[in-house]
Amino acid sequence: MAEKNSRSAGAPKRRGLVWLRNDLRCADNTALYRADKSCDALAAIFIACPQTWRSHGDGDNVVAFRLRSLQLLQDELAKRNIPLYFLELSSFEQVPAALAQVVHKLDVDVLLANAEYPLNEQKRDQAVRAALTDIAVPVEYCTDRTLIPPGSLTTNSGDGFKVFTPFKRAFIVRHGDAPFDPLPTPRARPDTHRDFWPEWQVLEAENNLVRSIPKTVGDYDVVPGGTDNVLEWPVGEAAGLRYLEDFSTKIADYLEQRDFPGIEGTSRLSPYLNCGAVSIRQCVQMALEENSGRWVGKSEGAGTWLSELLWREFYQHLVVNFPRVCRNQPFKPETEQVPWSRSEHDFERWCAGETGVPIVDAAMRQLNQTGWMHNRLRMVVASFLTKNLLIDWRRGERYFMQQLVDADFAANNGGWQWAASTGTDAVPYFRVFNPYSQSKKFDAEGDFIRAYVPELAKLSARDIHCPPPLQGYPQPICNVTDSRKRAIEVFANLKS
Ligand SMILES: Cc1cc2nc3c(=O)[nH]c(=O)nc-3n(C[C@H](O)[C@H](O)[C@H](O)COP(=O)(O)OP(=O)(O)OC[C@H]3O[C@@H](n4cnc5c(N)ncnc54)[C@H](O)[C@@H]3O)c2cc1C
Repeated sequence: MAEKNSRSAGAPKRRGLVWLRNDLRCADNTALYRADKSCDALAAIFIACPQTWRSHGDGDNVVAFRLRSLQLLQDELAKRNIPLYFLELSSFEQVPAALAQVVHKLDVDVLLANAEYPLNEQKRDQAVRAALTDIAVPVEYCTDRTLIPPGSLTTNSGDGFKVFTPFKRAFIVRHGDAPFDPLPTPRARPDTHRDFWPEWQVLEAENNLVRSIPKTVGDYDVVPGGTDNVLEWPVGEAAGLRYLEDFSTKIADYLEQRDFPGIEGTSRLSPYLNCGAVSIRQCVQMALEENSGRWVGKSEGAGTWLSELLWREFYQHLVVNFPRVCRNQPFKPETEQVPWSRSEHDFERWCAGETGVPIVDAAMRQLNQTGWMHNRLRMVVASFLTKNLLIDWRRGERYFMQQLVDADFAANNGGWQWAASTGTDAVPYFRVFNPYSQSKKFDAEGDFIRAYVPELAKLSARDIHCPPPLQGYPQPICNVTDSRKRAIEVFANLKS
């Protein structure tokens, strides 16, 4: 690599490269902010690894959302004369060598990135640090995806928390009511700043890994033949901030409204939080403002929403404290003994939303058509699959990853292990959701079911939850009372 002190007069003294991942925004981006502050010349890079993404189960929706958000971010950075390079590899294993090559080529002095926590991401990042250490380029990983670094909050005996409520309590005690002040966007650089960095086409000519961002997910072919459902979601930082602002006007009603899938009572910020178009601190700041600057108290709506943000934080920490959950293993090892059903027929009917249980079918069709599902329904369908159909939670977890526009390993794995009673602080195995009671309680008029199951549109509010035999709509795939009993027996007999 060229010696730094051999740079010509007028050349930038310190050149920083920010490696963007699921943090696709300009505002309140810790790595970008720190690089902006400490470097005279600044560029960004994104690395696509479709083979690894596929092996992690990422589907078209989440990948399309990510790539489109990235395109908008590239435009935003370009307005500030900051280039964003796009590197395409197939797997994480190739990242260290390729990144070292690009870092060398760009004559970079420091690489910054926001930390990611699932096991494979951590291994990749350690390997990158080692590869860059070999060429004397320091790497700085910043805390950004979470409010505090995972692993930093422990019980009195020094272990990671396994239960949410004490985790939340400890978090609030530690943090107090100090605000999370979002960081500013990187400053706009003069036009001459562009001269410090080669055009990507020049890099491409020398290193055929660098390319322009693919325009469509079809072009990218992440899941061949998959459908691209996310067109209805506006992408990018501005769209995410609009969702946040809209929700600030409804947050006071969150506690009363959040459980009803027919009402837009939740924020729908999950796709933006997961690709990083919106930061967790921006969300917390908004909610704290609505709650007189406190985590608990004043507005029950804001307080409850802050709690949900801490569930997100809890699951991110869990992945670091208990990495076995990243190895396709249940948190509770004894649940490996469950004799899971291998019925392909049942699984396919569940995926397609053709179980004959209306609320389950409406929920699965919402997922298949929009790439998103209401939280209450995620719990209902996950319980139905793992308890009533006794199908392995990992199959449901994977199907969700493939379909969700907000697919996130930590939250998804946490949610599935919670519903399947295989996880920590999970629903007790003897508390099996009854989909019919859930339907009557949370979709009393049946409007949500009607929106997604047109076959039942003409039924009254009384009949729609558990319809009489009907031409064109399947009979229930199982008897929920008997299957509930079977699941409880299975779990009760597990040997610890
Ligand atoms: C089986 C199952 C699978 C799930 N898979 C995912 C997933 O892949 N990605 C994902 O982001 N969430 C997942 N969740 C959590 C939750 O359902 C979604 O975060 C929520 O429905 C998103 O809608 P919202 O943004 O309107 O949420 P809001 O109610 O407005 O909540 C605000 C934010 O808090 C976080 N949050 C809320 N509830 C939870 C929770 N239970 N666990 C973790 N974080 C939470 C999310 O980031 C959410 O965007 C899953 C839950 C279950 C039961």
